[in-house]
Amino acid sequence: MFERAVEVSEAFRESAPQMQGTLRMAMKGCPECGTKHMIASPVLGICEECGSELVVLPNE
Ligand SMILES: [Zn+2]
Repeated sequence: MFERAVEVSEAFRESAPQMQGTLRMAMKGCPECGTKHMIASPVLGICEECGSELVVLPNE
């Protein structure tokens, strides 16, 4: 039982950093005025400055 617990935790440890890295790099921005924000929720929403729909910015 103990060995199985170790396997699960190691699998989680391998996948967790990748997910955090993806979230940390994700940026959304406004194509109209160039405003950029970190993506902090599943919904992109609209630009606070001009009301345009925000788009996901590609990672460079
Ligand atoms: Zn804008």
